[in-house]
Amino acid sequence: MKCLRCGRCCFYNVVVIRPERVKEDLNLGTLSEDDILLLDGSTTCPFLIWEGDQAVCKIHGHPWFKDTPCGQFTQEIEKSESSPCRTGTYMRANIQLWRKLTLQE
Ligand code: SF4
Ligand code: SF4
Repeated sequence: MKCLRCGRCCFYNVVVIRPERVKEDLNLGTLSEDDILLLDGSTTCPFLIWEGDQAVCKIHGHPWFKDTPCGQFTQEIEKSESSPCRTGTYMRANIQLWRKLTLQE
């Protein structure tokens, strides 16, 4: 699945590492339940920032990111790895709705 960086995944029901636990040499194998943050839809991921209308993940560049819940996220229903994300395609095509749901929350 190709992410179109609309940022929707980073708003609701995502599991992320607590920001205070993030460091360069983070070993995900040492994390406990207390190190994990489950977003409930009332707040955005603390690692989400914006470059214009592009959603950017602050921890995406770390080598251990691939082992995080987000790094392992896939949508099996997509036809191929290169298929654009359907949610992102919809949100990009409905820019006013997307802005209302993301930038103004
Ligand atoms: S960790 Fe990155 S990809 Fe995952 S929800 Fe947060 S900003 Fe989005
Ligand atoms: S909904 Fe799709 S395009 Fe938007 S951030 Fe999530 S994976 Fe990327």
